[in-house]
Amino acid sequence: MLSQNYHSGIVRFRQNWEGIRTMTTSNCFQNEIEQRPKQTISALLLLTVLAITVVRAAEPTLPPVIDPGPPGGPPSDAIVLFDGKDLSKWRDAKTNAAAWKVENGYMEVSPKGDIFTREEFGAGRLHLEWAAPAEVKGKDQGRGNSGVYLMGRYEIQVLDGFENKTYPDGQAAAFYGNAVPQVNACRRPGEWQAYEIIFHAPKPQADGRVEPGSFTVFHNGVLVQDHVPIKGASTTAAALKGVATQGPLVLQDHGCPVRYRNIWLRKL
Ligand code: MG
Repeated sequence: MLSQNYHSGIVRFRQNWEGIRTMTTSNCFQNEIEQRPKQTISALLLLTVLAITVVRAAEPTLPPVIDPGPPGGPPSDAIVLFDGKDLSKWRDAKTNAAAWKVENGYMEVSPKGDIFTREEFGAGRLHLEWAAPAEVKGKDQGRGNSGVYLMGRYEIQVLDGFENKTYPDGQAAAFYGNAVPQVNACRRPGEWQAYEIIFHAPKPQADGRVEPGSFTVFHNGVLVQDHVPIKGASTTAAALKGVATQGPLVLQDHGCPVRYRNIWLRKL
C-alpha cells in the first residue's frame, strides 16, 4: 500500500511538473512574464510548493509513541473503564449510577440489572478480567453466568466452564449463539481469567445491506475466536437491537455473583 501511494505520488508529481514546464515555455506565459513578472513568479513558487506537498503526502509517517504499560495493564492511549476503585464510568439501563458492589479492587454482579458504560464505542480492543464464584452453585448456564456485550448487542459469553457441561455456542468465550470457541480454556472457579477481545462492528450500508464485522478473542492468552463474522443481529438477551455505528459496553446481570476487574479499551 505504501509503495502504491509512493508510486502514485511520483506520477502526480511528474504530471504537475509537466504542466509547469508546458506553461513556462508557452508564448502566452512568456507574455505574462513580461507584463506581470511579480505575479507570475509567485504563481510559479506556489505551483512548486504544491508539487512538493503532493510527493510528501505520499510518504509513510512514523507512528505515535505510547507507553505500553505493565503486562496486562492499560497502554497510555487506552480508555480505562474500571480500575478497581469505582463505577463512575458506568450506569444502569437508564442514566442512574451503576449499583453493583465494588470492593477489594473488583466489581461484582449484583441483582440490579445489566450495567452500561456511559461512553459509547465502535471498533475496539478490549481487555477484561473476570472470576466465576469460588463457591460452585447451579449447573450448565446457571453456573457463573454473565457476559460482555460489545455495543450492547453482541455477547462474548462469561460462564464457569470448568467441568461444567453446557451447549457448544453457550460456552465461556463463545460468541453467544453464533460461534463456538476453538477450545475450552477455563480456569477453576474463583480464579481470575482474562479476555482480550478485538471487535469490528458490522457496518450499515446506504442500500440497507450490512457489511459484517468480526470478533477475535483470546481467553487466558489462548486464541478461541479467530476473526469470526458478526452479521448484525443482536444476541439473546441483548439490551440493544438494530445495527448501529456505536454503542455502550454492557456487562450482564444473569443472577450469578461474577466478579470483574482491570477493564480497558483502545479504540480502533
Ligand atoms: Mg451470559
